[in-house]
Amino acid sequence: MSRQRSRDSVRQSLRSFLALIGLCLSALGSTACAQPGEAPGGTTAFVGVNVIPMDRERVLENQVVIVRDGRIVSVEPAAAAQVPADARRIDAAGRWLMPGLAEMHGHVPGPEDPGYAEDVLFLYVANGVTTVRSMAGHPGLLALRERIAGGDLLGPTLHAASPWLSAEAAATPEAARAIVRQHRQSGYDLIKIGSLPRDAYGAMAEEAHAIGLPFGGHIPQDVGLVGALEARQASIDHFDRYVEFMVPQDRIPAGQEPGFFGSGWVGLIDEGRIADAVARTVAAGTWNVPTLSLVEHLASSEPGEAMIRRPEMRYMPRRVLDGWAQAKREFQASATFQPEAARALVDLRRRLLHALHEAGAPIALGSDAPQFFNVPGFSIHHEMGMMAAAGLSPYAVLESGTRNPARYFGTPDAFGTVAPGRRADLILLEANPLEDLDNVQRRVGVMVRGRWLPEAEIQARLEQIARDAAAS
Ligand SMILES: [Zn+2]
Repeated sequence: MSRQRSRDSVRQSLRSFLALIGLCLSALGSTACAQPGEAPGGTTAFVGVNVIPMDRERVLENQVVIVRDGRIVSVEPAAAAQVPADARRIDAAGRWLMPGLAEMHGHVPGPEDPGYAEDVLFLYVANGVTTVRSMAGHPGLLALRERIAGGDLLGPTLHAASPWLSAEAAATPEAARAIVRQHRQSGYDLIKIGSLPRDAYGAMAEEAHAIGLPFGGHIPQDVGLVGALEARQASIDHFDRYVEFMVPQDRIPAGQEPGFFGSGWVGLIDEGRIADAVARTVAAGTWNVPTLSLVEHLASSEPGEAMIRRPEMRYMPRRVLDGWAQAKREFQASATFQPEAARALVDLRRRLLHALHEAGAPIALGSDAPQFFNVPGFSIHHEMGMMAAAGLSPYAVLESGTRNPARYFGTPDAFGTVAPGRRADLILLEANPLEDLDNVQRRVGVMVRGRWLPEAEIQARLEQIARDAAAS
């Protein structure tokens, strides 16, 4: 099978379940739900809470955190703090308050079915995901971004990537320049890189830098890791092209394809080149969004039919689940899938993540929901578990989802830490997440842009989403 054909077959599988998702959207009809939670205005006080500020690894015990009009206004020791008389008090003694999380490689469905898109937005928030960098955008995403920002719709703060930039959309340097300007005009926050010719990529990069629009995502095959780092690509997602970089020129096998994310070449790498890849990444300052979860779901030998029986799958429409199971079945039956190589790939990616982290390369949390068994919000907990299994401390994992994304966007003071002036995106927990990342799931409630959602309200709407999904 040619390299192009094997890449195409993976894309075909992806397309086939994307198409199924599309079918599902049109079949569902509109099922807009009432928004739980209160309006973001007014004052809220978390009283007696242990704060995990995420500015560095520490806990501030027994604090009062005051939120007003969607922002944190003060963080003070309880003994010294004044709780305003008109504040809603949340008794948080013995509980833990951390910043909301970011899904840095997420997706939000298109406008074909507003009910499904709104459910996806809620699934993120229900899990404490209060910021989403939504990759592979569409015009409907821009409208959702504005409605959320305006308080008209409950959801995470959205950063909207452009539609996937493909060879068809940008075949020549001129076309690439034009489309970058057009996406800027439309209001996208990022150019999402897919596959495009090397010279078009170069022109795209030049134009994007000239107008101050970042670009990230995949790396075109002809550009490679070195080319993307030299072009100052803002983020590399899925560790794309790292394996190919690690295979020395003289080991590249004639007629053997790299396969999905380099799995076909994983046995050919020069281990010494891991350090080289890491050093080059650190020098370039390029961010990585590993999406371990996406690739580990692809690489696992578990049947898709078993995977769609995991508890959180009940929140996804039936057709989406069937699409995932079918895509997994087709993938496992394809020549691209070699179980042993897939296991080696997972191991290599975990080692790469650990090495990048140890060397100080910037890492941001992302799982690629809702793609391939990644249920929005719920998948972030799996991703964090996989990062911990790669050897990152709980603090380092939480940093990748809080403080680091704020740094990635160039707005370190906007969100991602608990401090005065920050957007009031917060998760209140029963136990300390620095001791065990599973504690991020022991929620008391979530605050998104100052709107407080107690866990009972979250569960009530989750049940409604599950009922709608079962009936779909
Ligand atoms: Zn994606």
